[in-house]
Amino acid sequence: MTESSIIPVFDGHNDVLLRLRRGGLNSVNAFLNGEAAGHIDLPRARRGGLAGGLCAIFIPSPDQPKPENGDFPTPAQADALNETLAMARLLLAIEAQSEGAIKVCRSAADIRQSIADGQFAAVFHIEGAEAVAADLDALYVLHEAGLRTLGPVWSRPNVFAYGVPFRFPSTPDIGPGLTDAGKDLIRACNELRIMIDLSHMNEQGFWDIAKLSDAPLVASHSNAHALSPHSRNLTDKQLDAIRDTGGLVGINFGVLFLRDDGVRNTDTPLDVLVRHVAYIAERIGIEHVALGSDFDGTTIPASLGDASGLPKLIDALRTHGFDDQAIAKIAHQNWVRVLERTWGG
Ligand SMILES: [Zn+2]
Repeated sequence: MTESSIIPVFDGHNDVLLRLRRGGLNSVNAFLNGEAAGHIDLPRARRGGLAGGLCAIFIPSPDQPKPENGDFPTPAQADALNETLAMARLLLAIEAQSEGAIKVCRSAADIRQSIADGQFAAVFHIEGAEAVAADLDALYVLHEAGLRTLGPVWSRPNVFAYGVPFRFPSTPDIGPGLTDAGKDLIRACNELRIMIDLSHMNEQGFWDIAKLSDAPLVASHSNAHALSPHSRNLTDKQLDAIRDTGGLVGINFGVLFLRDDGVRNTDTPLDVLVRHVAYIAERIGIEHVALGSDFDGTTIPASLGDASGLPKLIDALRTHGFDDQAIAKIAHQNWVRVLERTWGG
């Protein structure tokens, strides 16, 4: 295999729907035909080998004064549900207008087939379940509409749990764990076989889920706390728990979560990212490390640029000493395996 071969990347987290939402349904064409904004559109995904990933529906914090501690305010449930429906419709509109170039995948078989066919394999993901009330009605309906993975919280509190605030340097052990409604949510996700995403959980919430859930533990876009002591990153003990359940960690490309100084500096070499991959692979095994770019949701290294830069990351992994077999696991195989185990097909 030559260095210029395109390795398919299935990625654990992007915010392209959030970026496109600002352009309304007109942005469908911008996505399909390409545009000079953000990190992902279809032409750049194809150039970089981005074969698909978890497409997050994230509701921004309302425009209101921040609480005194500086943490993010939480949107109201009805507002969040309306916005979730609008963003889910946007995803479905992209699929419908793509002439087969994009598929909203509902099973691991769908993802494998889409990758084989060169179709972008999108998975409907919710980051922060504010759209769902404690009665969980919306969860069941959204699942029928294609929802397959869900993070109970973003980095703010809601009725289910207490999201980890952005702090640096800081332990992730900030605030209480799951509420009773949060425990009901985890049981319902297990019943529906919706993947539970631990990125943005605080440490207590993480351990509550580890105790309660019967699925592999997954953090879709988080890094090693030992290398970058951000509250969003995972301690060694958390990494070990993820390994013990057969789960995985998707490495976040955000410089804030990669660097050891917590500075938002785009002049961050790709080797810093590779060191997180290597650290986690060394500690818990190559089967448990994958990618979770956070494309269109955070500040990434300038040298990567956008989705079309993924082959540079693959080259950096190869330079570090990962062979083709290891790279295939990191790039897509681990994600598909863990989703298959979680979803049951
Ligand atoms: Zn996130």
